[in-house]
Amino acid sequence: MNSLYQKLIQGNKLFSESKKFKDPEYFEKLAKGQMPDYLWIGCSDSRVPANEITNTGSGEIFVHRNIANLVVHTDTNLLSVLEYAVKYLKVKHIIVCGHYNCGGVKASMTNHFHGFVDNWLRNIKDVYFKYRKELDTIKDETKREDRLCELNVVEQVRNLAKSGIVQEAWAERELHLHGWVYGLHDGLIKDLSVIHNNKEDIDEIYRFDTLKPVMKKTDLVLPKPVSKIKSRSKSSV
Ligand SMILES: [Zn+2]
Repeated sequence: MNSLYQKLIQGNKLFSESKKFKDPEYFEKLAKGQMPDYLWIGCSDSRVPANEITNTGSGEIFVHRNIANLVVHTDTNLLSVLEYAVKYLKVKHIIVCGHYNCGGVKASMTNHFHGFVDNWLRNIKDVYFKYRKELDTIKDETKREDRLCELNVVEQVRNLAKSGIVQEAWAERELHLHGWVYGLHDGLIKDLSVIHNNKEDIDEIYRFDTLKPVMKKTDLVLPKPVSKIKSRSKSSV
């Protein structure tokens, strides 16, 4: 058990030494800040590490991962990551990357009760239900699972497009959304070509009127200072 744990610490030392060997200032440069061009929303599966499979390094991709790479509009964790990446890091591309043979997707296709996680998997069941006519015609189980992995990504990209954070960004600049699926069997990414670049790509009911300011500057009325509070604060000094 201890050696399993120590393996990670030893690995970290090797990582640090090899980076410094190639570039003595590697960590000093990274420590100055990050300005990644990409936000990656991927599956937590240990076989799909964003940087490794895209041959990128530290500082290049801002990453959020959860079971089956879902974009759920009530997930405060994901929304916080999304807001930070879009508003402050100003990422240019958001990639939802699923993968074939996804345990979360496969689990959602059964009627087994797994426990709390079923609340999460319910989002994928809803995707299955939406595309059930197409999926039910696929007799081969693995192919049906693969197709749901793809459709799940398509829907998650659409969920991103429905978010106020993304639409607000579209009102002032370019932001590209992409849907990819990674093959565990060959290490290759398939681009599903589900590209959304503006809110016209989604149903009208999901479009926010972000171009109109919510409140004009002249509508802002600053509260007048209350004299009682002022005098109390004076006496307390
Ligand atoms: Zn997965």
